[in-house]
Amino acid sequence: MITAVKSIADARLVPGATQIEVRGVNKVFTTGGHDIVALQGIDLTVGQGEFVCLLGPSGCGKSTLLNAVAGFQPPSQGVITVDGQPVLTPGPDRGMVFQEYALFPWMTVAENIAFGLQIKRMGRAEVKERVDALLAKLHLQDFRHRYPKDLSGGMRQRVAIARVLALDSPIMLMDEPFGALDALTRRTLQDELLRIWEEVGKTVLFVTHSIEESIYLADRIIVMTYRPGTIKRDIHVDMPRPRDGSNPEFNRLKRELSQMVMEEQQRFSQEEIRSVTAD
Ligand code: ADP
Ligand code: MG
Repeated sequence: MITAVKSIADARLVPGATQIEVRGVNKVFTTGGHDIVALQGIDLTVGQGEFVCLLGPSGCGKSTLLNAVAGFQPPSQGVITVDGQPVLTPGPDRGMVFQEYALFPWMTVAENIAFGLQIKRMGRAEVKERVDALLAKLHLQDFRHRYPKDLSGGMRQRVAIARVLALDSPIMLMDEPFGALDALTRRTLQDELLRIWEEVGKTVLFVTHSIEESIYLADRIIVMTYRPGTIKRDIHVDMPRPRDGSNPEFNRLKRELSQMVMEEQQRFSQEEIRSVTAD
């Protein structure tokens, strides 16, 4: 009997089972009488438990795509499904971590983490147990009574991650979450995120414009083009972790990605020049 239950649990965790599906997604913003095609013809499938990075220079539609998956901004055309269900609104199956630390300033660290659980009407004892476990997991025990304003950027981002983990969403959507941190703090949090990801088996869709960050973290790197935002390349990264420059494959991939991102950055610069000279 126990074996049967275990096999059902295992079956749900088969790597590669489709969790997020993006089909034919376009997104057009109309501002000041003209259209900006932020996304065009995006097709993307993310498997359960995969760590996928969206990589590209500023303005290529990474946040727009992530926000569409989160259900914050519907696509102009196309369909996004999560576990086969169309995404129409934000939902508890998708937790979001933003670049700026989206914490409640009037709540302590522990209260910020507990907030979503209280909304779900979880009992006090269970909330406390869950919060204590997360404080330990993210090395925040000594900070539980502090307010966000009294924390460093790295600490605040730890709290933001703990808050999403508290809800136990199967999917974590992260929009340049470590972009504002110094290099050392950033590496520490990248390592913690990888450790948690390996431990809890969540699906991660992670936006970054850092090539090194994408290679360090991802199972797959989706390189995007600049306006219209399309998928330029979908690259599987098959390197053991932890990854660093001592692996020749790391450096080869870094050169390849740099070339691709530079091409898109140049298109961005050319467009900037055109828009300035058109005024
Ligand atoms: P990235 O996250 O890759 O930097 P974004 O998804 O933020 O890119 O933006 C993609 C493009 O869409 C950009 O040209 C941006 O100016 C435009 N854009 C994004 N959001 C809006 C909006 N709410 N209104 C108008 N244009 C927008
Ligand atoms: Mg962005």
